[in-house]
Amino acid sequence: INIDYQAIFHEVVDELAGVHDRGEVADYIPGLADVDPNKLGIHLTTIDNQQHSYGDFDERFSIQSISKVLTLTLAMEMIGGDNLWKRVGIEPSGSAFNSLVQLEYERGMPRNPFINAGAIVICDVLVSCLDNPKQDLLDFIRRISGNQTIDYCAKTAEMESETGFRNYALINLMRDFGNIHNDIETVLDLYFYSCSITMSCKELSETFMFLAAYGTNPMLNTVVVNPTRAQRINSIMQLCGFYDEAGEFSFRVGLPGKSGVGGGIIAVHPGRYSVAVWSPRLNKKGNSYKGMLILEGMTTKSQTSIF
Ligand code: GLU
Repeated sequence: INIDYQAIFHEVVDELAGVHDRGEVADYIPGLADVDPNKLGIHLTTIDNQQHSYGDFDERFSIQSISKVLTLTLAMEMIGGDNLWKRVGIEPSGSAFNSLVQLEYERGMPRNPFINAGAIVICDVLVSCLDNPKQDLLDFIRRISGNQTIDYCAKTAEMESETGFRNYALINLMRDFGNIHNDIETVLDLYFYSCSITMSCKELSETFMFLAAYGTNPMLNTVVVNPTRAQRINSIMQLCGFYDEAGEFSFRVGLPGKSGVGGGIIAVHPGRYSVAVWSPRLNKKGNSYKGMLILEGMTTKSQTSIF
């Protein structure tokens, strides 16, 4: 079926013109606080390489927690799922992205890899297996996207570290329970680095193509993971990709996806497309307010909810 997603994006954005864009831009560090709140980008790539875009789709922004999917993917490739799932769970958290409470109950085992605690354990795994974790992660992202220019923002990484008191609390608690095996600074350095990677909507949708196409980036013919692994990553995104709002996103949009506090969202339709949106104002749960509405309108009009 040939769907004119581009036309749909225009329709949806027009319909939302009257909707007051609620929420605030993340303001805990300058790099995020300075972003123009009215930025709006959308990019969708179909698995047969049709490109549909809108607005600021070519402008880079801080991908923040969207990187948690990429670090998970790399860690699964490094040590395999069986070893990984002994260190981090696969259950939705129903709690805020940086919550400490559940860690105490679950003896240092994070609920899933897409909340901060889980992503920090994943970074610990990567530090154990990679010689140059930061560069290796970046090389991995460049390889799966076919884009050698993707990079991180040094200033953002530094500010993440200076303001990351909760992340320090999380890692120390997990270390006490024995679930962190490496030097705390080294692990958090990788975590903050991954948060500070910048990409445009277009680059995100190309990078995440492998999750729409059963593990292989069809444009590059690059196998990223096997089909089972792609399925599993999608299932974790479906249940855990939006912190304590995963149910809401599933209900309204109906796609596996992952958000970040930079205002970006990546979502995939297995077998059809990968789509990224960027709108920096966040709702109370830390997800892009307009981004969610746009994806809801898009899957409704194109009838492409996976359900
Ligand atoms: N750098 C943020 C943190 O670790 C990431 C949060 C997010 O995108 O959810 O607090």
